Amino acid sequence: ITRNDLRNIAIIAHVDHGKTTLVDSMLKQSGIFRENQVVKERVLDSNEIERERGITILSKNTAIHYKDIKINIIDTPGHADFGGEVERVLKMADGVVLLVDAFEGPMPQTKFVLKKAFELNLPAIVCINKIDRPEARPNEVIDEVLDLFIELGAGDEYLDSPFVFTSAREGIATRDLNNKKDNMEDLFETIVNYIPAPQGDIDSPLQVLISTIDYNDYVGRIGIGRIERGKIEANQEAIIVNANKPDYKKKIKIGKIFEFEGLNRVEVENSTVGSIIAVTGVEGIHIGDTICDIDHPEALPFVKISEPTIAMNFSVNDSPFAGKEGKFLTSRQIRNRLFKELQTDVSLRVEETDSTDVFKVSGRGELHLSVLIENMRREGYEFQVSKPEVLYKYENGKKLEPMEKVTIDVSDEYIGSVIEKLGRRKGELISMTEARGGYSRLVFSVPARGLIGYRGEFMTDTKGEGILNSVFDGYAPYKGDIPQRIEGSLIAFETGEATAYGLYSAQERGTLFITPGTKVYKGMVVGSNPKGVDIEVNVCKKKHQSNIRAAGSDEALRLSPPKEMTIEEALEFIDDDELIEITPTTFRIRKKILD
Ligand code: GDP
Repeated sequence: ITRNDLRNIAIIAHVDHGKTTLVDSMLKQSGIFRENQVVKERVLDSNEIERERGITILSKNTAIHYKDIKINIIDTPGHADFGGEVERVLKMADGVVLLVDAFEGPMPQTKFVLKKAFELNLPAIVCINKIDRPEARPNEVIDEVLDLFIELGAGDEYLDSPFVFTSAREGIATRDLNNKKDNMEDLFETIVNYIPAPQGDIDSPLQVLISTIDYNDYVGRIGIGRIERGKIEANQEAIIVNANKPDYKKKIKIGKIFEFEGLNRVEVENSTVGSIIAVTGVEGIHIGDTICDIDHPEALPFVKISEPTIAMNFSVNDSPFAGKEGKFLTSRQIRNRLFKELQTDVSLRVEETDSTDVFKVSGRGELHLSVLIENMRREGYEFQVSKPEVLYKYENGKKLEPMEKVTIDVSDEYIGSVIEKLGRRKGELISMTEARGGYSRLVFSVPARGLIGYRGEFMTDTKGEGILNSVFDGYAPYKGDIPQRIEGSLIAFETGEATAYGLYSAQERGTLFITPGTKVYKGMVVGSNPKGVDIEVNVCKKKHQSNIRAAGSDEALRLSPPKEMTIEEALEFIDDDELIEITPTTFRIRKKILD
């Protein structure tokens, strides 16, 4: 059947381009073309941190009505992809709305999600928002969007995608800039006309593909997904299977079924193919599972969920200053919060350790874990974290390490720096092809540990223009030590008898000793840290340090003396009053020079 009464769309937008306001306005006008409906407060971006980082982590559903059609709106994550999240969320939709600010134009951060939408052949509507802004330049932005489509390799059909101009703030939408309307009807019309109605077989055995898991203290796990085939009834028996786990079968009894309505979920007795539903009574359900008719356990294909590759220890704050930053700091509180996160995040792993105060948290890379840490801190949890470490595997006495396949799209001017930096991090260039729009696509195989700290550097190096995406690429024999670059201040130790030199590094939370005779290569001191791994440090004047952080390390090289020299020569380069003194007994930094 074709569900002419339904549309499922996903909104793709850069942060601040007006997604929340748009959905808000659509909610306000939801049903006015039919009947009046009460509007609830905005909740689409409840996660503050999304705004700051410019990424949406949680995906939420909203539903509105236009005439006799219900439109499910699926919020998509921004540019980050933790374990195939983007793809699985887009799989619930039959089309996307790309929302673009009429002044700012399309932003590079949305490229990744947009590209996935093209790969899934989802039709796209382009919504140029904020046309009320005095600096709005909608016509140029149209060209920029089309250029982006071409650059991302979109098929020709995408070049005919409809454009709608909106002011989400004023609640207006129009297909024609010379003919302003006073409501959003043009947007609703475009959605119902251009995005295909969901189709499927209503008489075949039930299949629901679970794309998201929600969790609620009262009902436990809630599976959210789209009915791909058949119909579902509350309290019916069903079986759970998973395409990636051939031996897995679990009989269940469905509890309640909900559909989305406005910002709420409403209970329904049954639901049919094409609908996006939430189901309870599915304890133990996972993302990627298929809920099937009891006699037809046929799993639907699903993006493979990547394994965790990086771990960090989360531990109770044992400093005398504990309790200053947060209100939840006991190991029990931290434990409960972490285990709760596990309910909804498929790519996360939490393990207890020998100490009741320490939990080992593993995830998909540094960004994944840092988002969790920031979320928890914001909620009032106070804890300490260790530096990220890679999860090694031992097989036949061999040390294997997780590898990542890293795909990078950059314009030609940045290729050199990318190859140089990933090379240093033991990355191996697998291919380099020309992408459209003057971009090149570089594919690397990089040890997961080599990516630690790289994403931020990459963004700085490519001025926010590059796209970096990485997927787990199996295990490979250990590739050897990676020289670490450590930023810090050169310091002098007074040992009573003599003065020794070292590097004080906030990043390392400690001091590295630099012995006389240490070799300096192109402005960097090469020494050894206690583990015997080569390190590289920037030798620079203290007053340039902030510049270095801002400009990335290339700048650091320029500011530093660009020649080989010894530590003694390097010290001459640094003025005496720029050295920080540390007394070895207390390790407390004398404020004199640090400030
Ligand atoms: P989101 O991050 O994409 O959800 O963006 P928001 O909906 O929170 O909007 C970001 C900012 O842009 C807010 O200050 C909005 O008031 C403003 N904004 C949203 N839509 C419009 C619009 O159509 N016109 C103008 N002038 N501002 C808008």
